[in-house]
Amino acid sequence: MKNPNNITDIHINLIDRLKEGDRRAVARLITQVENQGQEITKKIIKEIYPLTGKATIVGITGPPGSGKSTLINQLSSKYLDIGMKVSIIAVDPSSPFSGGALLGDRIRMKDHSSNKNLFIRSMANRGKLGGLAIATKDVIHILDAYGSDIIIIETVGVGQSEIDIFKSAHTVIGIIPPGMGDEIQTIKAGIMEITDIFVINKMDHDGVDKIANQIEDMLNISDQFLNNNPYGKSNEKKLNKWRPSIVKTNALKGENIDELIININTHTAFLKNTNSFTQRLIYRYKFYILDILKNLMEKNIENVLFNNDEIEDFIRKKIELREGNDPYTISDLIIKKYLK
Ligand code: GDP
Repeated sequence: MKNPNNITDIHINLIDRLKEGDRRAVARLITQVENQGQEITKKIIKEIYPLTGKATIVGITGPPGSGKSTLINQLSSKYLDIGMKVSIIAVDPSSPFSGGALLGDRIRMKDHSSNKNLFIRSMANRGKLGGLAIATKDVIHILDAYGSDIIIIETVGVGQSEIDIFKSAHTVIGIIPPGMGDEIQTIKAGIMEITDIFVINKMDHDGVDKIANQIEDMLNISDQFLNNNPYGKSNEKKLNKWRPSIVKTNALKGENIDELIININTHTAFLKNTNSFTQRLIYRYKFYILDILKNLMEKNIENVLFNNDEIEDFIRKKIELREGNDPYTISDLIIKKYLK
């Protein structure tokens, strides 16, 4: 392979091995992307990007104990049984630890530890806001280039960072278990909005129909909103509106997993048959770029702010002589003068 980007031989070698389907190379490339700086990541992603775009990306969220790992284990089994290549990324935004987080281990312990078509990776927050969402997208690209048919991203659905992560997904599954008090209220509004398939897991428990009704009511309200909304009136908008489906499962016994897979396939087909698929890809791409830009801008701004004599003088004057510019004016000045 030619070496157009001054990427090191080690990385070229890892990328070559990734293309041949070497799982250890995948793991090492992910570690590089997680631990090395943006320059290395940039080169790796640039090299592998032409190989991406084939995987179906499914996000799964739900509160702790709702049955995410049990359900993912069941789904993976079904996909592996029909010869698909499955990758799972377990993301934990609240934890500073990475590499061997619980979900990965739990799934690994189950039936498929030696299946060469299964790849599992845990990712955690390294303290940098927004960093996890970018890292997850980079990892998705690596797993896509590796040839995964399906990439499942799992997270506990607690905050904005998860919503950002799910902007990478084609289909988002929100798990709601019965018996959590006023169930619907416990689900974050943001997650509600991006969910394509609601899974009411633990259908063997009481209260399943009540939740299904609550979700239906909520969807009816949002349909009404769409009908009354001037933007919702246009046929095109209506045509492209997916009404989230509801599936009841018993992940423990593996019941209704096929129905869930049918729903995932139906949603993927919907995206492809309408222009929603391209819309989602454009949307997803913009957020990826936004994250990268934010990161780059932050570094540039930091550099200007902390390494520039003129700005130092402005601030000193303000502090020592109590004259000069307020922080907003200085910020405007920095944008105009230094960040063109
Ligand atoms: P997570 O924290 O969301 O990943 O949830 P887990 O997959 O670890 O499941 C939490 C607990 O619920 C475990 O003890 C599972 O065995 C159990 N569980 C998962 N799905 C079901 C189900 O459909 N029915 C019942 N009764 N228990 C379930």
